[in-house]
Amino acid sequence: MLSDAPYEAQLDARAAALCTACVHAGDAPDPATGVRALDPPLVLSVAFGFDSAEGAAAAFRGESDALIYGRWANPTVQALEAKLAALEGTEDACATASGMAAVSGAVLSECGQGNHIVAPRSMYAESARLLRERLPRLGIETTFVDATEPGAYERALRPATRLLYVETPANPNLAVTDVAAVVALARARGLRTVADNTFATPFAQTPQALGVDLVVHSMTKALGGHGDAIGGCVCGARDDVARARDLIVKGFGGVLSPFNAFLISRGMRTFALRQRQQCASAATLATRLASHPRVAVVHHPSLPTHPGHALARRQMHAFGSLLSFELGGEGALTAGRAVLEGVRTITHAVSLGDVRSLIVHPASTTHSTMPAEARAAAGISDGLLRLSVGIEGVEDLWADLAAALGRA
Ligand SMILES: *Cc1c(COP(=O)(O)O)cnc(C)c1O
Repeated sequence: MLSDAPYEAQLDARAAALCTACVHAGDAPDPATGVRALDPPLVLSVAFGFDSAEGAAAAFRGESDALIYGRWANPTVQALEAKLAALEGTEDACATASGMAAVSGAVLSECGQGNHIVAPRSMYAESARLLRERLPRLGIETTFVDATEPGAYERALRPATRLLYVETPANPNLAVTDVAAVVALARARGLRTVADNTFATPFAQTPQALGVDLVVHSMTKALGGHGDAIGGCVCGARDDVARARDLIVKGFGGVLSPFNAFLISRGMRTFALRQRQQCASAATLATRLASHPRVAVVHHPSLPTHPGHALARRQMHAFGSLLSFELGGEGALTAGRAVLEGVRTITHAVSLGDVRSLIVHPASTTHSTMPAEARAAAGISDGLLRLSVGIEGVEDLWADLAAALGRA
């Protein structure tokens, strides 16, 4: 919930609310090393010794917390999971090998053959492929809707509907979905909800607080934040996470490596500080881009002209660090390419949420696997550029963008 107070003061308050958990959650004093290591040690061991025959049998019966095998549980991964649950405000969290392991696993832990899903038209392209191309082979159908339209989810319901999937703000056009409305519909009909919160991050939005059952992330993005580790997670109530963990990690083998858990935990200690800066810079850049003569439209929920602005104020803690914009007029595509090739401080690469600012042309890259009609329906024009704002100085970023736009 955002008030009328100055945005930067609200970002400071949000960072203050999260920073202690970012630093300390999950970092229990470590009994494993016996030297009181402050930083949870990187435990690479695959197996953990039993203290007795009965201890082994009890561990296998699930009657003790004794660790058994690295695919089932690992202390470095567990420390990360405690931090994640603290930030999302959920009872539990399960780390996974990647964001896609979390998305596919969360969906499959909720749905089986004969079930139907309602999902947004505008979503992460590989998640869209999962629902459109892969799950129908398992007898799971999806209807894609304009998730910004009130009533769209309800109109798409079938007797077989089991899951309502949300991703807000959406990739790459930052469309905002009314999460509480989707949750209310799900509860009224006894359906389940999954939210991909990668774009917003728990700094800007906590879907569990709005009633969502399972929250998924690509930790590869802002949570890790340094562009050096692939990972994902599923957050939610204890039983739901246990079911997802059993399927994704134990069954499908989508386990996060302890090394990546170590890196992502380290990244998360500065997560709220990074997001504070990134969200502030994104709002500044969105405002400046919106009045630049070469730019036809800017998509960022901070802008009062953004269709999701009022809703974002109600359901988000911040407007996020991603924005997209379209160059105007004839030759918008060529000019957009010139911007990609003209930036120097900003890097032309995929991924997002990184300490580095990253810019990409979705139509020819991240969303090129989407059929052209689906792309158009999702509001991804050929001239759209997506910018993930990093922690560089905002004036350096603006100078870089302005120079690239001037050359385009
Ligand atoms: C990157 C991303 C994913 C997939 O995550 P990986 O870690 O690359 O598997 C899923 N959803 C969103 C919104 C993403 O940005």
